[in-house]
Amino acid sequence: MTALPRICLGCKRAFRPRSGERHCPACQGALNRRQLRRRQASGKRTGSTRAWRMLRAEILAADPICVYCGAPATTVDHVKPVSKGGAELDPANCVPACASCNVRKGAGWPRSGNDYSNLLGGG
Ligand SMILES: [Zn+2]
Ligand SMILES: [Zn+2]
Repeated sequence: MTALPRICLGCKRAFRPRSGERHCPACQGALNRRQLRRRQASGKRTGSTRAWRMLRAEILAADPICVYCGAPATTVDHVKPVSKGGAELDPANCVPACASCNVRKGAGWPRSGNDYSNLLGGG
């Protein structure tokens, strides 16, 4: 009894399965790598780390007022977005913000971070 060749679901080429695989070794390896990468990415999302949660809680406890509109702050916003090189865990780069201002700034806040330097510097 010889194992019959099977057509790989990925590349449609014939291969000899060792057990019940439906992909050739090359495609199976690619699938495994993709699953691994997805698992790594889900565990490393911005805003979900323990350090960030602690920093956010400290900032909201110290000054729970939105720097943009003065409403009660429920979130912490990065003055310089992390995506643009801002330090995610630097307290000097984090300001308390209400949810609506945080969303609005994320969608394109018109002002620059320099406008808030007086707010950040004052104790
Ligand atoms: Zn294949
Ligand atoms: Zn606000």
